[in-house]
Amino acid sequence: MATVAFIGLGHMGLPMARNLAKAGHKVHGYDIAKPALPDGHGLSLAATSAAAVSGADVVLTMLPAGPQVAQAYQHDGIFKHAAKGALLIDCSTIDVKTARDVAKHAHGHGLAMVDAPVSGGVGGAEAGTLTFMVGGEAAAFERAKPILEAMGKRIIHAGPSGNGQAAKICNNMILAISMIGVSEAFVLGEKLGLSHQTLFDVASTSSGQCWSLTTYCPVPGPVPASPANRDYKAGFSAAMMLKDLRLAQGAAIETGVPTPMGAEAAALYGLFAVAGHGNLDFSAIIKLLRDNFHN
Ligand code: NAD
Repeated sequence: MATVAFIGLGHMGLPMARNLAKAGHKVHGYDIAKPALPDGHGLSLAATSAAAVSGADVVLTMLPAGPQVAQAYQHDGIFKHAAKGALLIDCSTIDVKTARDVAKHAHGHGLAMVDAPVSGGVGGAEAGTLTFMVGGEAAAFERAKPILEAMGKRIIHAGPSGNGQAAKICNNMILAISMIGVSEAFVLGEKLGLSHQTLFDVASTSSGQCWSLTTYCPVPGPVPASPANRDYKAGFSAAMMLKDLRLAQGAAIETGVPTPMGAEAAALYGLFAVAGHGNLDFSAIIKLLRDNFHN
């Protein structure tokens, strides 16, 4: 069992750290917000990042975005205080370029590092069923795997540094575009007098079939577990989706790849967030389409 420093104990980080502790790892957590931890969860809180990191076999970060990741590794001293031979794992969702830069600096300090963003949300973090998309050298991936297995069900090696982030933003761009497509079809169906259930029964067994329809249907009824049945309580929030779409757009601009549907999806989720709905589930985008374009 390893000694793990866990930096960033927010909505995702805290349940992930708890699952590591539950699996028998010794976990020293740190967060600038100094969360109050109830007793008996098998995880201790360090006063500083340096105290958490010193002597740890593995340093794991779960932070909001690229600037906080760069801050934690470079300025708050993870590179400086990490033990010789420690493995660094960044599970935050950040831009590919920062992920590659931070990994390069880690290698410069003689430390192995992987980027390992997740999908599965807070529910998956609590249940220990996250999917990890991992970028880094094969040897670092093999070392990271047993640690990640304490928090997730699927651990996928996506290639060299930054490729975990690349896989995550490409997947979520598909998801946003398909959710908007499914939502448009339901709104058009409503105007044409088609019941939600009829359109679902046809499309879910025809060529319109996709995850956004069959698992996460944006109208209440056909898929009882989808957020549409609980007033679009997130789930995976529209604000989080917007963040990932903007990361994808940044990567598209940097690489010169045209992603017109991704750009349109980012614009629509941007409008939705500005209208004050960023905290709703991302499938609530159907409300924007219905209210603004078809009434
Ligand atoms: P969060 O804001 O709840 O948690 C981030 C934590 O990091 C906060 O507690 C904050 O105080 C702490 N922090 C910030 N800077 C720090 C620093 N320098 N040192 C130590 N702690 C610091 O965010 P979250 O929802 O837990 O998401 C974390 C990451 O996971 C994000 O990159 C997000 O995009 C990704 N993610 C989130 C979800 C989700 O459903 N919430 C799903 C998949 C991926």
